[in-house]
Amino acid sequence: MVFLGTGCSNPTAERNLSAVAMRFMGNWLLFDCPEGTQRQMMQSNVSYMKVKYIFFSHFHADHFLGFPGLVATMSMHERDYPLHIFGPKGTRERVQRALNLGLMRKDFEIKINEVKRAGKIVDEQSFEVNAFPLKHEVPCLGFSFKEKDKEGEFQRAKALKLGIPEGPLWGKLQKGQSVRWKGRTFKPGQVMDYKKGRRGRKISVVMDTVPWEGYFDYIEGSDVLVHEAAFGEKHAQRARETKHSTARQAARVAAETNAKKLVLTHISPRHKRNKELENEARQEFANVVVAEDLMAFKV
Ligand SMILES: [Zn+2]
Ligand SMILES: [Zn+2]
Repeated sequence: MVFLGTGCSNPTAERNLSAVAMRFMGNWLLFDCPEGTQRQMMQSNVSYMKVKYIFFSHFHADHFLGFPGLVATMSMHERDYPLHIFGPKGTRERVQRALNLGLMRKDFEIKINEVKRAGKIVDEQSFEVNAFPLKHEVPCLGFSFKEKDKEGEFQRAKALKLGIPEGPLWGKLQKGQSVRWKGRTFKPGQVMDYKKGRRGRKISVVMDTVPWEGYFDYIEGSDVLVHEAAFGEKHAQRARETKHSTARQAARVAAETNAKKLVLTHISPRHKRNKELENEARQEFANVVVAEDLMAFKV
């Protein structure tokens, strides 16, 4: 995961506007694309050409204005495979308008998906992404990435030794079904090592919102919860008015949903010192860090 930007409202010398990128098995997933995002990508190891998915939380300017520029650069470098866009109501119109804003050639396909209801929006072989509604001034979505659980490891050598030919029978055994071959029955346990099974990793990205139970089920048990924390306690009133979270509120969400690690981002330019926000959050949840631009780690 790479935190390309970690601020809100306007970029500052210390923080670009908030965007998070994630790499999983060669694909990059990008959450929001504010102004400046592509330069931040170039200063990190995020390959903008390999971005397959962009998830827009909402269309406030500080989450979206980097998009047309990024597409222009992708086109210039002769990208030739589709880009998948997801976002709340209004995505189709906003994205179309952004693409028409500047003159650019665009030789690759942009697939725009307007999320109509909460639930699974991406279903790949090795992971899925769920979307869920947040509570902000405008329609806004949160997203949760989930690596698929691994039941166990298929042992090729054992299967071959038993004389089961490679092909659909192997698939069935991996799915836990018994198969028949040349008059003999084989059980999954003969070729699967279930000790090597493990729970898939889960990463949730919650941008602009007042904390609200409606999304708790979707982020339950996240290995990493990225949560906006625009303000500290002294601006709690302002957070309420503008439909944002404080660091302490975000930490309470992490505690209530059994997150393993909390990363606070989308920090207001009013807050110059991370320590203050971190200390407030730590009263509710111990494993918390305030993100800084270009911070990166492996989950
Ligand atoms: Zn925002
Ligand atoms: Zn917003």
